[in-house]
Amino acid sequence: MSCHRPDANASVQGAEGLDHNPFALMQPRAPLLAPKEARNGARVIVNNVAPQGVYLPNYNVLTPHMRSPEYVQMSTAAAITLGIMKGRMYRCSCTRCLNLLLTYPEGCRANCAYCGLARHREAERDYADRNFIRVDWPAVPLEETIDIVARDGAGSPFHRMCISMITHPRSDEDTVTVLKRWTERIDPAAIPVSILSNPTTMTREDVKRLRDLGADIFTVALDAATPVIFDRTRGKGVQSPHTWRKYWEILMDARDIFGPQKFGAHIIIGMGETEYEALGLVQQLVDLGGHSHMFCFFPEKGSLMDHLPATPRDQWRRVQLARYLIDYRGVRVDQMKFDGEGRVVDFGLPTGELDSVIDAGVAFRTSGCPGKFAEDISACDRPYGDSPPSNVASYPFPPSRSDLRKIRRQLRIVERKT
Ligand code: SF4
Repeated sequence: MSCHRPDANASVQGAEGLDHNPFALMQPRAPLLAPKEARNGARVIVNNVAPQGVYLPNYNVLTPHMRSPEYVQMSTAAAITLGIMKGRMYRCSCTRCLNLLLTYPEGCRANCAYCGLARHREAERDYADRNFIRVDWPAVPLEETIDIVARDGAGSPFHRMCISMITHPRSDEDTVTVLKRWTERIDPAAIPVSILSNPTTMTREDVKRLRDLGADIFTVALDAATPVIFDRTRGKGVQSPHTWRKYWEILMDARDIFGPQKFGAHIIIGMGETEYEALGLVQQLVDLGGHSHMFCFFPEKGSLMDHLPATPRDQWRRVQLARYLIDYRGVRVDQMKFDGEGRVVDFGLPTGELDSVIDAGVAFRTSGCPGKFAEDISACDRPYGDSPPSNVASYPFPPSRSDLRKIRRQLRIVERKT
């Protein structure tokens, strides 16, 4: 068996020399109440500036009044790939997943502590100008987006499209409209569609409707690995409406309706859970027939957790590798060994086999819904969504030999000489 010992004094990045983010440390700030004149997108609605084509986030201009389904937001990487924005991504030319985020001046009505889109930012920044997973999200007319993808036809760089819902009274209905408008022009067999859902406003019927309209994969952003962390970061702890129970209810509906390998959950690593807890959840999802998509916690600027440390790379790499083994290599969490603080100390595979998995590098790439290359290679590569390029957490491209040497140092698993 492969075996390594995490050394608590040799942290890459953690607070006070820790090689993991413990629960006690990862306490979000309490949200402040925005003044009345800034609530519910009032500034944007009162000014009522008509949008003109693409809107690039800019805190110095009056944000136009844009709403889904006519408008959607997309990541900077997607906008560059579509040719809507100029720019280049470090070490990767484009993204293979077109993430379309619903948008409203009122913004998301939830207050998740790690999220740049959260409601408590109303006083500081209009919704369409807020950073989300470390980047700006330009707002683009939906029809213009569909036109470009339809024009590219089989030559489209996109392997998948994903509609990302937010917590808003119009979100369920507008997701249906965006899906319908997309599938009227673009064959979902050519570019499959995923739904990143918002369970809080959804019913089982909503899940069924999206499947019947051609959605391929349905995911639930649990984000927190335990009910306590869920409540602290996106429930009552931050005056946010989400509950663990409702998220699991919709996740189980998705399992019934979309079926095996067609549903999954997002999990953020490093918000205070132990590695054992996170990997127990990964195993639970696999046993149910689904997948986990993982994100490394990064203190998003302007969020209620922006004062907290990013997940140390050693914790992240251990969980990333173990999750890959459970999701794609049939290793079970009960074959792994953990220390007293719940850290992985044995991945449950013979050394040679573990070496091959590490050297293949796929385990360390961004995880998400599959594209056209392989089941275990995500279409959704989210370049630098959970780290700066100088210290990559999820690789949006195949890690090079020197990346793999760095990953091994982070894992403290030395390369064997052959
Ligand atoms: S529901 Fe989603 S978009 Fe809204 S604050 Fe929470 S994580 Fe952010």
